[in-house]
Amino acid sequence: VADYFFGEIPHNPVGTIYASRKEAATAGVHRVTVQGISGNGTVGADSISVNGGYEDDIDLGDEIIYTGAGGNDPSTGKQIADQSLTQHGNAGMVVSEENGYPVRVLRGFKGDPKFSPPTGYRYDGLYRVNRHWSEIGKSGFRIWRFQLFRLSPQEAAPYIPAENVPAGQARPERAVGVASRIIRNTDVTNWVKAHYDYACQVCDTQLVLPVGMYAEGAHIRALGRPHDGPDTVDNVLCLCPNHHTLFDLGGLYVDRDFRVRDKDGATLGPLYRRSGHTVSAEHLQYHRTHFGYGE
Ligand SMILES: [Zn+2]
Repeated sequence: VADYFFGEIPHNPVGTIYASRKEAATAGVHRVTVQGISGNGTVGADSISVNGGYEDDIDLGDEIIYTGAGGNDPSTGKQIADQSLTQHGNAGMVVSEENGYPVRVLRGFKGDPKFSPPTGYRYDGLYRVNRHWSEIGKSGFRIWRFQLFRLSPQEAAPYIPAENVPAGQARPERAVGVASRIIRNTDVTNWVKAHYDYACQVCDTQLVLPVGMYAEGAHIRALGRPHDGPDTVDNVLCLCPNHHTLFDLGGLYVDRDFRVRDKDGATLGPLYRRSGHTVSAEHLQYHRTHFGYGE
């Protein structure tokens, strides 16, 4: 784990130039000297190199369509075999996507001249992985593609993995963008999801993916206007996507005795709670009131 570090590297601001991959690796900006992706399916991916090594890469500056690792002839950049999502750093990219981890981007002199340095390598800031998909690339082999967007300076705060319960933010900051939206606090939702081993607190289902388990952190009292709920663990439930949607849209609620009920009041069972995680009765009451389920 010590080999990976998410976020900005101190004393290496955006625009820093490195003479070689080795120099960038020593600085900690991109810690591998050959591979395009630094990371794995356990910790996530903390950086990538964009240097024209893959024929299917598309560099648009603030947006990058990045080709996964594997199946590539390094001398020509052409694909000569299928890629696998679980191989190399590809699984790390998925973990970073699911968790919202920031990914450092290092651009090299062989990349698209519009966005790349004329010589050497340049640290170009933090991006997030927006989505991934599979398709057949230019040379006829299956490739995995990752769409990355550059993070705004407000979003690009350093990510520090938390070992203990994170304090969270009583009043989450807003990012200025096309629409006002809440910055995802990955420490808080990650902690709750891990605390329940990614099992839904309503149905106990664990969704198992090729690269790990999936659950969603559901805010009981929603973030953002007009609810202005806090981003703290007592305001977050670990839910499967179905129960998250039902909860967010008022299709189910939790009563005073922590029983889960549907819109007609029928009991679906208890809300699973594990010791160490206090679920706020006050926020559950706010949720009930908001959807007209009385006190
Ligand atoms: Zn569920």
